[in-house]
Amino acid sequence: MKAVFASRNRHKVEQVKILLEKVEILPLDELAPELGLEEPFATFEANALAKARAATQATGLLAIADDSGLQVDALDGDPGVRSARYAGENATDDANNAMLVALLKDVPEDQRTCRYVCAAVCVWPSGTEMIASGTCGGRVILEGRGRLGFGYDPHVVPDGDTRTMAEIPLEEKLTFSHRGRAFRALAQKLDAHA
Ligand code: IMP
Repeated sequence: MKAVFASRNRHKVEQVKILLEKVEILPLDELAPELGLEEPFATFEANALAKARAATQATGLLAIADDSGLQVDALDGDPGVRSARYAGENATDDANNAMLVALLKDVPEDQRTCRYVCAAVCVWPSGTEMIASGTCGGRVILEGRGRLGFGYDPHVVPDGDTRTMAEIPLEEKLTFSHRGRAFRALAQKLDAHA
């Protein structure tokens, strides 16, 4: 099975290639270099579906997408679907992390609970759609640690661990991460569909 993955995030591409081992992931940059991937909706599922629908329409191929983010309880679930642009449009990971730390600096550590959320979807050119999701709980620390991963990883310590997500090797992280859980669930649905 071949599918275009509707993302320009190289970290996500790397992870999804590992997680969907039976699917040949084709690069969006070559198939639809100009395609914009909008995320205008209030839910991860709606945004993921919008990206996959756009990619399948542009390429005529089966498209896979995810939408993901960090929900912090003390921030009423923010940054949520705005995780990539928390500090503004085209914000860097460093700017988003600085924003997160500034907003949580007076919140005690035991109240900085959070979860990563991922919605993973497939959309066929016929219009058939498939959705799966996964979460990964943890807490936010103010002093970032680690150089692996991307996004908020240096500031997120997953439940049951003392390391940040940026200190955990990728293969291990995928066994419990939001994206690992969502794409393993999607792979099971794809197997059942085949
Ligand atoms: P989007 O799914 O492309 O909208 O991006 C989601 C944003 O959420 C990313 O830019 C990161 O800031 C954050 N995010 C999502 N998944 C992860 C992850 O696995 N590690 C770190 N940050 C993540």
